[in-house]
Amino acid sequence: MPVDASSPLKTLQTVFGYERFRGLQAEIIGQLLSGGDALVLMPTGGGKSLCYQIPALLRPGTGVVVSPLIALMEDQVGALRQLGLKAAFLNSSLAYPAQREVETRFLAGELDLLYVAPERLLTERFLSSLERAQVALFAIDEAHCVSQWGHDFRADYWQLSLLHQRFPAVPRIALTATADERTRREIIERLGLDEARVFLGGFDRPNIRYAIGQKSNARQQLLEFIRREHEGDAGIVYCLSRKKVEETAAWLCSKGLKALPYHAGLSAETRQHNQRRFLLEEGLIVVATIAFGMGIDKPNVRFVAHLDLPKSLEAYYQETGRAGRDGLPANAWMVYGLQDVITLRSMVESSDADELHKRVERHKLDAMLGFCELTSCRRQTLLQYFGDTLEQPCGNCDNCLSPAQTWDATEAARKALSCVYRSGQRFGAHYVVDLLLGKTSERVRGFGHDRLSTFGIGRELGDKQWLSVFRQLVTQGFLVVDWEAHGALRLSPASRPLLKGEQTLFLRKDQETKAAPARDARRGAIRFSDPDDEKLFQALRGLRRQLADEQEVPPYVILHDAVLIEMVERRPETHVQLARIPGIGERKLALYGDDFLALIREYEEAEG
Ligand code: ADP
Ligand code: ZN
Repeated sequence: MPVDASSPLKTLQTVFGYERFRGLQAEIIGQLLSGGDALVLMPTGGGKSLCYQIPALLRPGTGVVVSPLIALMEDQVGALRQLGLKAAFLNSSLAYPAQREVETRFLAGELDLLYVAPERLLTERFLSSLERAQVALFAIDEAHCVSQWGHDFRADYWQLSLLHQRFPAVPRIALTATADERTRREIIERLGLDEARVFLGGFDRPNIRYAIGQKSNARQQLLEFIRREHEGDAGIVYCLSRKKVEETAAWLCSKGLKALPYHAGLSAETRQHNQRRFLLEEGLIVVATIAFGMGIDKPNVRFVAHLDLPKSLEAYYQETGRAGRDGLPANAWMVYGLQDVITLRSMVESSDADELHKRVERHKLDAMLGFCELTSCRRQTLLQYFGDTLEQPCGNCDNCLSPAQTWDATEAARKALSCVYRSGQRFGAHYVVDLLLGKTSERVRGFGHDRLSTFGIGRELGDKQWLSVFRQLVTQGFLVVDWEAHGALRLSPASRPLLKGEQTLFLRKDQETKAAPARDARRGAIRFSDPDDEKLFQALRGLRRQLADEQEVPPYVILHDAVLIEMVERRPETHVQLARIPGIGERKLALYGDDFLALIREYEEAEG
């Protein structure tokens, strides 16, 4: 190791350039240094990597990191090399001679950290080299992959318990950002972590602003959102289907934005290429199915937009969590409508899963839908769902920023439910709304529905409002969607008290898109009010870009945006001043200090 690393704090400061540990980091590192195991649950961006990187440096031998995604490994290794550490990875992307070389270095004790794909780790060849090498610790990243309940299950992960059996003296640390109680228990059980100390970091991501609005013209709404708040920013847009991914990406491009598609139907080559561009270039938008994302630890993703609802809050939280890992302001934006609710409900009901799984899925979907319709602070609810608490409303979600309105919908709901009942519980929402509004058509007359007692009893509301009522009735379980009958609505037992007048119901008043308040517009993006500052910031980015291109690494591997922002604000003139900026350790100071200082000086002089 090239650095004085006599203590964890010293290592943090000299190697990583950070002043102090965050949250539970120090305790976790202490646990591993004393030879114990750890299970770490922390949100994305919480600072998990340091928890094994520092002990790996301080203990004799190499830290072996099991990580499921190739892109992630390359990135981490690239970033570690920038810090002057000896890191390498082993996965299927590596040609044989290069693999041999890494193995040789590993056995010779020349590596601080080695990242390995699980299938590679489990080969007899690699296990035997583990026996001959000195291993400082095992880190199992994305540990929720062992859980069958989770959405990222990987069979390889199950076998990782053998690490403990074969190398009982080596401390292990399992890390994940998503783990409800059940997943957590499964991780402990599957990985044999009974002795591990569990570290539960807070789940809050205070820099992410959550906003969920009603869909009218989703693409147009998305475009307006990006133009309003994220001109030139990197972002991810999630859609459910491949077709929609393609169409949305093409449409955004036609509007002059830089957008790329990403989904499992593209060739591996295209996917890799697009992912690579997303990491390397600035200001690129990736439109993707959920196939994109795990292992994307690009720190400066400024927004995550959903054009379709995720299936669970776990998925929502994980996907939105890819925004703002650098701690700077970021947006999680979503629009949805009745059709999304119907589609997702039908998907759950029509799946091949057994009843037990369906029940779990239904439960998860209910939580997701309830979250969408929420009128109180979204962050409070989100955190509560993950077993965390936030005492006060957050002040940084749409409901906090412009309080949602509710209205007494008891009477409207009764009319809607009666009309569903009278027309035979065989029709979708749009048809029933026509009946409520008293619209005749051939179809209506054909069924004789224009003679129903409920025909035309709902003229006091417009069709949009009625659809909103139906959406919320479905979300709240008063109506069920019959997927075998093309989304026909039926009454659920829960609707009886409402129909009988024994229950009142307040519903959310829809707003199409909830724009952030004007004073806060463009908050998601990094902008300086002073034009001189903005100019310097762009110049610093240009220099970073050039350094990144020379080394073929993503710009953020050179320095994070947050570091550049500090440079603009502090205008350091000496190495000592520069070194005080968080994120500049000894090695980066030595490599890039002069270049950046010279650039800043140039600007200072030009400004006079
Ligand atoms: P995770 O793996 O939990 O998603 P990372 O390990 O990638 O998070 O860390 C997120 C960001 O926080 C990184 O940019 C990292 O450099 C930064 N970071 C981690 N620990 C600290 C710390 N103690 N002080 C300042 N920044 C930190
Ligand atoms: Zn809030």
